[in-house]
Amino acid sequence: MAILPILEIPHPTLRKRAKKVRGIDKSITKLAYDMVDTMHEAGGVGLAANQVGQLWRIIVIQMPDEEEARVYFNPEIVKTMGTREVEEGCLSLPGYRGLVNRSVWIRFQAIDHGETTVKFKAENLLSQALEHEVDHLNGILYTDHLASHEQLYRIEEQESQPGDEEEEITSDQNSLDTPASLKIN
Ligand SMILES: [Zn+2]
Repeated sequence: MAILPILEIPHPTLRKRAKKVRGIDKSITKLAYDMVDTMHEAGGVGLAANQVGQLWRIIVIQMPDEEEARVYFNPEIVKTMGTREVEEGCLSLPGYRGLVNRSVWIRFQAIDHGETTVKFKAENLLSQALEHEVDHLNGILYTDHLASHEQLYRIEEQESQPGDEEEEITSDQNSLDTPASLKIN
């Protein structure tokens, strides 16, 4: 188990398409569980392998109301229905959030941590997180879904830079930690 460094834009790996996992061997399993640790450490709802510099189709999801993280290999969004506007952030673009259109619900398919093929319908935050993470595997960032530049906005940075006193931001940092605006990563 290890915490991996999370790549940030404009790292080129974030724009690459990840490869299908052909066999879930020891190293792939270790990577997946390192991703779970990394996601937990960062306080995120999800993480894709591209974000830790590995171009394999692996995503991990931690739903706030679930005890264990979900681990998915070769995830696929089989069907989408409707659109809704949601607020989103990403660990690879720290300090920003934006409004994007996501599906109302999706049909999802993947191989889970027990190497079983799972198929289910997802909605709400789970659907949003799965769409966000599968996008990562295709080199897509949420900012690609913004209808206009105005829909991306800066939030308070957690660490202020020493000597940088030009901008004093007093917005409520706690808003990030409420379930209504959880970080999707
Ligand atoms: Zn992300």
